[in-house]
Amino acid sequence: MAKQQFKAESKRLLEMMINSIYTQREIFLRELISNASDAIDKIYYKALTDDNLTFNKEDYYVKITADKATRTLTITDTGIGMTKEDIENNLGVIAKSGSLAFKSENEAKDGHNIIGQFGVGFYSAFMVADVVTVTSRALGSDEAYKWESEGADGYTITPAEKDSVGTEIVLKIKENTEDDQYDEYLEEYRLRAIIKKYSDFIRYPIKMDVKTQRPKEDAENEFEEVQEEQTINSMVPIWRKNKSELTEEDYQNFYNEKRYGFDKPLKHVHIKADGAVVYNAILFIPENTPFDYYTKEYEKGLELYSNGVLIMDKCGDLLPDYFSFVKGMVDSEDLSLNISREMLQHDRQLTLIAKNIKNKVKSALQSMMKDERENYEKFFASFGRGLKFGVYNDYGMNKEDLQDLLLFTSSKEKKLVSLDEYVSRMPEDQKFIYYASGDSIDRIEKLPQTEMVLDKGYEILYFTDDVDEFAIKMLMKYKEKEFKSVSSGDLGLDSEGDQQENDAEESDNKELFEAMGSLLAGKVKSVKASKRLKSHPVCLSTEGEVSIEMEKILKAMPN
Ligand code: ADP
Ligand code: MG
Repeated sequence: MAKQQFKAESKRLLEMMINSIYTQREIFLRELISNASDAIDKIYYKALTDDNLTFNKEDYYVKITADKATRTLTITDTGIGMTKEDIENNLGVIAKSGSLAFKSENEAKDGHNIIGQFGVGFYSAFMVADVVTVTSRALGSDEAYKWESEGADGYTITPAEKDSVGTEIVLKIKENTEDDQYDEYLEEYRLRAIIKKYSDFIRYPIKMDVKTQRPKEDAENEFEEVQEEQTINSMVPIWRKNKSELTEEDYQNFYNEKRYGFDKPLKHVHIKADGAVVYNAILFIPENTPFDYYTKEYEKGLELYSNGVLIMDKCGDLLPDYFSFVKGMVDSEDLSLNISREMLQHDRQLTLIAKNIKNKVKSALQSMMKDERENYEKFFASFGRGLKFGVYNDYGMNKEDLQDLLLFTSSKEKKLVSLDEYVSRMPEDQKFIYYASGDSIDRIEKLPQTEMVLDKGYEILYFTDDVDEFAIKMLMKYKEKEFKSVSSGDLGLDSEGDQQENDAEESDNKELFEAMGSLLAGKVKSVKASKRLKSHPVCLSTEGEVSIEMEKILKAMPN
């Protein structure tokens, strides 16, 4: 039978992955177990919502079997299974339509990111196996199919026999080479350790035949070796555990297992709420910006569980847009399993949870800013732009929530400063919060307009991001202090105000000012004497509320 080709992009990815990237090969098992568990979730969910199906908990499990003689490792599940179409669609393509094109060649070399972003979980089997065989029978079908592949070459699908619904995946484990050891993936103790490490909280039993010593019945002090099926995982979902039982590493493993990201989250928030609304949640603040974060493709949302059963992968209603970087899950007993997406939007419980989550995230970020400044600055470098958009969007409705989370580069040591920090160290005579906009800090520092303000010993916020000034306009003021651009006509400095002196200078040099005015006609509104200049001969300034930078952006915007 002719081999089908993997789609081109899958092939490239597969080769890359097999050949280089993963240092932690052991995660292949986590990936396969997590797929098995997802498949059982699906059948469980069906049974709960479909009266014709019954779900006996004992019938649902994952079984791991290693056979050294044939060098095979088998992962069997009693989940929902796959039809022939499912197999083709799910195991023949990795990246969905062209998403790889988003990444430059360079970035594509960093496999961690790719795996995180495209969910190539299943393919990680090829890191340890020469041949992977998947036999599956879907719920409601009497036909089974076998998918087989030796890696990047392609795959075959043939009809097969299978007695019960579910999926069986057989890995032909690679031979040891001089550099790489694979034998360990056939060792009971090693498999057990990997399962414990990554899949302990999986809600279904992960079983293994384990050899144990048992005292002989007829002889004292003598033992015999017996095979015994054991459940390896503890099965309590991590979010139900007490925070005190959990280590930083547990949360980290959960984050990776769930494929929320392949970075190391900067912070986790574990919520066990039992007030007006009862729910458990684990939320993460990631470190890295997802490659599509600032595009329309990016989909925000948290996993939503109803009493331990996954009912939605990405529930967007749980997060405001400006916190769309948050990853994680929510489990609530108060939600109905049958709830539809449309109904969710109006669900009172869900609205309460969402509000609660918003506040928790906000205070987590605030405490991070205060106590883990370095991490907060990393976070802000990745997601700060989104927060500033959040201030600006929705007519500034959320500015109260967001203003204390913003950081700007300050003229003072060019360090990042929050508005609160800025205001609290303002000299007493300073009336405004000053800012200057430009393409880069370097260019801003060369602006003649900054000199006067700095000379007064005042700090200036340097705006290098388009959205900075828009966000500030929306805020208008912070703690009763108005924002003022250094290029605005009136800087509000005491020394500046001597209008008479300016007028005198202008009338003394009337001809000069007129000549300059006509030379620059159409380019400037007027030419005036200024007290603001120190080491520069001229500067541009604006009248009214729009700065030069903002005027540029407004002009560039399509109408
Ligand atoms: P992901 O789990 O992120 O979707 P994977 O590469 O791990 O990505 O799996 C791809 C798809 O293959 C799954 O979404 C699922 O539809 C299907 N699949 C994989 N393993 C199984 C299994 N054991 N039972 C049923 N479906 C499976
Ligand atoms: Mg998976």
